[in-house]
Amino acid sequence: MTAICPKCNGEMDEGRASADEGIRYVSNRQTGMIRTPTPIRLARACLTCGYVELYLDPAELKKKV
Ligand SMILES: [Zn+2]
Repeated sequence: MTAICPKCNGEMDEGRASADEGIRYVSNRQTGMIRTPTPIRLARACLTCGYVELYLDPAELKKKV
């Protein structure tokens, strides 16, 4: 099933957001000394306008906030 771009309704390609160790997310609600980042597990890019959306595992994030 093809995902549709929420900005322009174009077709979205699916992959991973890649930096050296992957893009990670840290919530502003994580206020402790050790703020363990949550890895971005899935990324989609629109093949028409270039819009990119990123997904992490919400269950993994909820354990930290
Ligand atoms: Zn688009």
